Amino acid sequence: MSEKIITRFAPSPTGFLHVGGLRTALYNYLFAKKNKGHFILRIEDTDQERLVEGAGEHLEVMLKNFNLHWNNEEIIIQSKRLAIYKKYTEQLITERKAYYCFCTKERLEKLRGEQQAKKLAPRYDGHCTGLSEQEISSNLAVQQQHVVRLRMPTTGITVFTDLVRSDIQFKNELLDDQIILKSDGFPTYHLASVVDDHDSQITHVIRGEEWLPSTPKHIVLYRALDWDPPQFAHLPLLLNADKSKMSKRQGDVTVEDFLKKGYLPEALLNFVLLLGWNPGTTEEFFSLEQMVQHFDLEKINKAGAVFNVEKLDWLNSQYIKKLTPTDLAQRAKPYFDEALIDTNADYLQRIVITEQERIKQLDELVEKTRYFFVEPEYRAEELVWKKSTAKDTLRYLNKLIELLEQLPEKTWQTVELESCIKDWLIAQQWGTGDVLWPMRFALSGLKASPSPFEIAAALGKEKTLKRLAKAVMLLEK
Ligand code: GLU
Repeated sequence: MSEKIITRFAPSPTGFLHVGGLRTALYNYLFAKKNKGHFILRIEDTDQERLVEGAGEHLEVMLKNFNLHWNNEEIIIQSKRLAIYKKYTEQLITERKAYYCFCTKERLEKLRGEQQAKKLAPRYDGHCTGLSEQEISSNLAVQQQHVVRLRMPTTGITVFTDLVRSDIQFKNELLDDQIILKSDGFPTYHLASVVDDHDSQITHVIRGEEWLPSTPKHIVLYRALDWDPPQFAHLPLLLNADKSKMSKRQGDVTVEDFLKKGYLPEALLNFVLLLGWNPGTTEEFFSLEQMVQHFDLEKINKAGAVFNVEKLDWLNSQYIKKLTPTDLAQRAKPYFDEALIDTNADYLQRIVITEQERIKQLDELVEKTRYFFVEPEYRAEELVWKKSTAKDTLRYLNKLIELLEQLPEKTWQTVELESCIKDWLIAQQWGTGDVLWPMRFALSGLKASPSPFEIAAALGKEKTLKRLAKAVMLLEK
């Protein structure tokens, strides 16, 4: 291919970024980068009724979160290009490829009702196609509300080759005379999308399958404007676990929600990559650079991609395991801030690594490690292991305190603590559970937790000894 590849991500700022949108953005980015091309961001804000304030900026922030940087500094914003769409609309009208339609809402509703009653597909009946020049000018002179419609072919077929779905054919008789300019002077998605894709010299339009039925309309528009259409690749639908279609408006599937729950951006991106694309090998982990290296459009599946949350959890836990303690603590910090837990970087780092191997999402950390910040409350009996006694437990804990007091701060680490305490237990010939259960329980107040060595290491010498002393006091009562 000698031409420069140019792709675009063209979201409508109607709310948050959906995971399907992230996938579209990612594939467009990857295809452009892989081919040393350009990736453009365009905000499709022509549907004034569905606009959500700040949604455009939110989209930009989200893309940056995933390092999906677009090439041109400038973002194309459709609402700033109304004059351009108007110019092309006028051209189409002059060339009789489009026409003014003055039909009222009431008339169109009545028409739809009649068609429904006859079990016909709803479509415009061409009522305004035959208006005379005079009728048109007098309607315009009195500023009668109107739209502009594209004159669609009524016979034959529109064919195009989709890079994912091969040859696609649509019967022209089924294509409605598409509105291209609305009564508010804004273009419809169809016109704006075609004009902008042409203006930006987009070579590949990669978008969700839900836009497939719009594509023949776009092709007719390209032809009407005497332009060559770009190549199209329609990405498979995203499906819920029960194979039902995942809706854009479904709660909990916005990218922001996933990030808030503590899915790492790199894990979420990796997961999204595999929704409908596979490398053809068993490799599952891809950094953004590796994605660029391996990505190609040929390996996109036609079949819907099931959104498997277990897989996402698994991937995320794998990515969490690979984080350095500093990185993990930094990423976990906002969750502790939100829970109003005041902590310093060093303590937080020691704490979060106790759960690093177990958690699937970062937001689990606060609850799982709360005992590091709040002294545990429990009853004396709970400190006693199975067949052991309160009296023996008291003796063990007192001896343990003596042992730990002698240990230097600098070897106060999980591995050192473990080998020292285990050796000591062997020398004393005391049962592991008899001593380690009360130790662990005194430190955590939990029946299930990380090992007492990990907890002691994270707590530090002072807090460990304090908690053990409290257990002793309770047993002495
Ligand atoms: N604005 C459309 C969307 O929100 C873009 C469709 C396209 O890529 O052509 O998905």
